[in-house]
Amino acid sequence: TSGIVGFLGLGVMGREMARNLAQAGFRVRAFDIVSGAGEALRQFGVEIVSDIPAAVSDADIVISMLPDTPQVEEIVYGPGGLLSHPPRGRLFVDMSTIAPEATRKMSRDLSAAGVTMLDAPVSGGPVGAKKGSLTIMVGGEAQGFEQATPYLSAMGSTLNHVGASGAGQTVKLCNQLICGINIQAICEALALARAWDIDLPQMREVLLGGSAASWMLDKLGSAMIEGDVSAGFRIDLMMKDLRLVLEAAQKHPVPLPATALVATQYQNAQAYGEGSNGNQALFKVYDRITGQ
Ligand code: NAD
Repeated sequence: TSGIVGFLGLGVMGREMARNLAQAGFRVRAFDIVSGAGEALRQFGVEIVSDIPAAVSDADIVISMLPDTPQVEEIVYGPGGLLSHPPRGRLFVDMSTIAPEATRKMSRDLSAAGVTMLDAPVSGGPVGAKKGSLTIMVGGEAQGFEQATPYLSAMGSTLNHVGASGAGQTVKLCNQLICGINIQAICEALALARAWDIDLPQMREVLLGGSAASWMLDKLGSAMIEGDVSAGFRIDLMMKDLRLVLEAAQKHPVPLPATALVATQYQNAQAYGEGSNGNQALFKVYDRITGQ
């Protein structure tokens, strides 16, 4: 495989995705504002560079995995960004979870500069990122999707072109809405069961065999029961996603009462200092409410 990838953002997800690209044979030039974030990737042949132009100027494709909308806008519009330094291959794939509307605007502005932008947010968490088995939801032009496919295939096992620019983000926000409500549902069930002296590990097993089974009950349920709060997918990032969901729902508008309630519970978790812990730390809110 050939092709040069400029990779921006080497956090929990990005560092695994950049490694998978390098191990698939692509030349990866990576940048993170936190110096040292990508050091461990050098052994896999990833070149760590010290600014955005060094990562992107010769790239066939630029991929970003950043926290939120402002960081993606920064690498597009900011000094040394993609608008002022269009990458050689003129293809930009943002895999962060950000606002669909801002995505559409960036896509339009970049298009005027001859750069195709795709939104390609992912589901599957750090484990999926590590294994290269992410589910990727892509919005944008079909031709860009085709061009990006060999690269996306190195990071994910399910690639889906779901519509025009912004559609990938919209589908991802629907995914997050379902995940957030599901996580809260599991917290409520565990809190009730704990108050009634039920054996929680056994209950989880029982429920996984029935109609309440879910990815969240499987993966996060055990971490909740064990009290392991290590991130994973941080509370702060889910709160960001729920905010994006509620903002998107105001545009049209669509009432989302359950999402609004769950967002409040995530704010409680943040207020209790759980923001940088994994989503299973939402259960910690109940340690305080029920005094356990
Ligand atoms: P993270 O905070 O661990 O990583 C983000 C990285 O971006 C950090 O290393 C940060 O230093 C870097 N960064 C910030 N601004 C930058 C800039 N201007 N230039 C270069 N680097 C910059 O977050 P993460 O968990 O890797 O998540 C990244 C995105 O993927 C988020 O939008 C998140 O919602 C989404 N996501 C996360 C998960 C998960 O389970 N962690 C799953 C699916 C999607």
